[in-house]
Amino acid sequence: MTRVPVRDDLSALEGYHSPQVTVDVRLNTNEAPVGPPAAFRDALSSEMSRIEWNRYPDRAATALRTAIGALHGVGPEQIFVANGSNEVLQTVLLTFAGPGRTVATFEPTYQLHGHIARITGATVVEGERAADFSIDMNEVRRVVEQSRPHVTFLCSPNNPTGGVDSPSVVRDVLALSPGLLVVDEAYGQFADWSAVELIDEETPLVVSRTFSKTWSMAAARLGYLVGPRWLVAELDKVVLPYHLDATKQIAGTLAVRFLDEMNERVRSIVSERERVSAALRALDLDVFDSGANFVLFRPRHMGGRAVWQGLLDRSVLIRDCSGWPRLADCLRVTIGTPAEDDRFLSAITEVLS
Ligand SMILES: *Cc1c(COP(=O)(O)O)cnc(C)c1O
Repeated sequence: MTRVPVRDDLSALEGYHSPQVTVDVRLNTNEAPVGPPAAFRDALSSEMSRIEWNRYPDRAATALRTAIGALHGVGPEQIFVANGSNEVLQTVLLTFAGPGRTVATFEPTYQLHGHIARITGATVVEGERAADFSIDMNEVRRVVEQSRPHVTFLCSPNNPTGGVDSPSVVRDVLALSPGLLVVDEAYGQFADWSAVELIDEETPLVVSRTFSKTWSMAAARLGYLVGPRWLVAELDKVVLPYHLDATKQIAGTLAVRFLDEMNERVRSIVSERERVSAALRALDLDVFDSGANFVLFRPRHMGGRAVWQGLLDRSVLIRDCSGWPRLADCLRVTIGTPAEDDRFLSAITEVLS
C-alpha cells in the first residue's frame, strides 16, 4: 500500500475549482479589471530593495496593521492580517470551529465558508436563503435554535448572488446567533454601509475584507479582519509565526496610500455594473440586483451551461454556476473594463440569438 489514507472526514471532500483558462476576456473570478496605479508599483520596487532578506519579517506586521486600522478608525490591535481573506477565515475557523463544533451558512453563498469549516473538522449546517437570495430571518431562527452554531457566516455583498444585507439584518442575526458572527465583506467597498460600524469589545462580531478585489491586488494574497481586541489576540496565537512575508507587508502598507484611486475604480465599476445589468435585462434574462463587481443572471430560453459554452467558444470566460445547488442555470459575470464588457455583451447577444 503506497497511498496513506487521508482523514476519514476529508475523503469525501472535493477541492475548490475555478478553471484558469486562457481566453481573450476573463470575467470569471471577480478580479479588478485594472491594476493598482503606476505610483504604487514604483514605490513598491524601491522599498523592496531595502528588505533585509536574512531576517524574519515583523511578526506582528505592525506597520501594515496600523495602516489598515487607520482606514477603519481603529488601532492595529483590532486588525488581524493573513495571506488572503481565505486564510483569515481559516484562522477564525481553526480558533472557533473545529471538531465537535458547528458552523452555519446561508446558501447559496461563498463556497469556501463551508469548505474551510469542514477542513477544520467542524460540522456545517446549511440554512436556506429566500427565493430572491436575501436572508430569511425565520430560517436564521430555525437554524440557530436547532444547531446552536459556534460560528455563523454572512456574506455582504453575497457571492455569487450579489445582494447586500441591511444593517437591520446583520443586527438581527447577531442578536440570534449564540456564537461568533463573521461578516465576509470581500466586496464591502461596493456597498453603502459596513458591519465594521457594529464592532466593539462586547460584541462577538468580526468583518473580513480582502485586497484581492477592490484594491486590485489578487496577486498579493492579502486579507484582514476587523474585530474585538481579545479576539484578534486569540487569532494571533493560532496562526503560524511569521506567516506574512516582508514583501506582502510592504505591498499592503503602500497600497492603502492609494485609497482615492481605489474609490475611483469602485465608482467606475459600479457604473459599468449598472450598464451591464440593464443590457442583460434588455436581452430578456433574469438578472439579480448586485451590490458588488459581478452580476448573477439566468437565461430563460436556453440552458445556462450552453450559454456559458457559447461564450467560451467566443473566448469570453464567465463563471458557470449552473450546476451548483440552488443555482440551476445561473451564470455570474465579473464586471470588466468597458471594452471587455462590450465583448461579453456582444458575445451573449450572439449566443442567445
Ligand atoms: C474573492 C472572495 C474572497 C477573497 O479571498 P482572498 O483569499 O482574499 O483572495 C473572500 N470572500 C469572498 C466572498 C470572495 O468572493
